[in-house]
Amino acid sequence: MTCTVEDHSKCRLRPFWQTTSGIPCLNVLHLIENPYFKGTIGPMPGKEKERTCLECADIIHGRNDKRFCCDQCRSAWHNKQNSDATNFVRNINNTLRKNRRILAELNPNGKAKVKREDLLDRGFKFSYFTNIYTTKGGNTYYFCYEQGYITLADDWIALVIRQKYVE
Ligand SMILES: [Zn+2]
Repeated sequence: MTCTVEDHSKCRLRPFWQTTSGIPCLNVLHLIENPYFKGTIGPMPGKEKERTCLECADIIHGRNDKRFCCDQCRSAWHNKQNSDATNFVRNINNTLRKNRRILAELNPNGKAKVKREDLLDRGFKFSYFTNIYTTKGGNTYYFCYEQGYITLADDWIALVIRQKYVE
């Protein structure tokens, strides 16, 4: 019998190396986690997957923690991380995530009605959303990931949640 939980700390079976009675755990992932087996299961030292440079994808030689083949590649990669394009994408991603968080906080039960100011006060940006859903009746829902809303009369906004991914 082998447990199927992913996390060894949640495993209720005993690792077989300390089992004298009871059900042994033979989950290979747990065996790898066990200090007793560290280094005896899994990739052999020196035979681990070849590491490649984050910038040019060349194979890296030398220390285990190296991420780049050379200094030029390191600085080229770091420069790109702060490029305008990268920051632009990052800012929009952050805005979308913040919008999603605001909607989720105001809508813990899957359905809620709030005022437009409630969203604005929290820093919600109405220009940013991930997708639009228009009903047959012509009503438009705006979504930030699974969290959505539709504007109603008098600055009221109805919040909804939609888990399904729409092509
Ligand atoms: Zn490189």
